[in-house]
Amino acid sequence: MNDIKLALLGSEGAGKSAVLVRFLTKRFIGEYASDTNSLYRKRLSIDGRQLNLEVFDPCSQSRGSRCILEEPVEWADGFVVVYTISDRMSFLNAKNILHQIKESRRETCKGEVDIPICLVGNKQDLCHSRQVSEEEGRCLAIENKCLFQEVSAAENYLEISNLFTKLIRHVMDYVKYR
Ligand code: GDP
Ligand code: MG
Repeated sequence: MNDIKLALLGSEGAGKSAVLVRFLTKRFIGEYASDTNSLYRKRLSIDGRQLNLEVFDPCSQSRGSRCILEEPVEWADGFVVVYTISDRMSFLNAKNILHQIKESRRETCKGEVDIPICLVGNKQDLCHSRQVSEEEGRCLAIENKCLFQEVSAAENYLEISNLFTKLIRHVMDYVKYR
């Protein structure tokens, strides 16, 4: 298994593109195209295995509608669900997205499965205007059996890189035993 497909999901402006670009290029640019869906490809090596990583970064999901989710949910092996710690609405949307991923996979897999998902609380640098506590994020992740990390795409690289690596390892295990 050499192909890993990930999808980023979350409210418009949560920082999906910023988190992804940080991981892929180590850089924070500041502004990211948001009017089209993008598919990024990268070759990387994890635990001595060569992988082709594909990441789907969708355009605006501000309407939060189901149809926007359906395509990546079917396609992806794993998910990065992003919210902003200074925006409670984005956290509620992330909760909704986690629910929708589980529901749609339950239909196709006919049962409970641990889908590789990472919940990301982004913009940790804006902690002075925090609206979601780290504890709330962690609890939501535990409820949904997913990984969790608060990050700042603006300031961190290492946390984001570690997070993707963990998620990719989880996908490799998941796909192997599926
Ligand atoms: P997307 O719609 O989820 O893809 O969000 P973007 O990646 O386009 O980011 C939306 C805005 O938030 C942009 O202006 C980014 O520069 C900004 N942004 C993204 N990540 C961070 C962060 O960690 N800290 C701060 N302060 N701003 C961020
Ligand atoms: Mg974007």
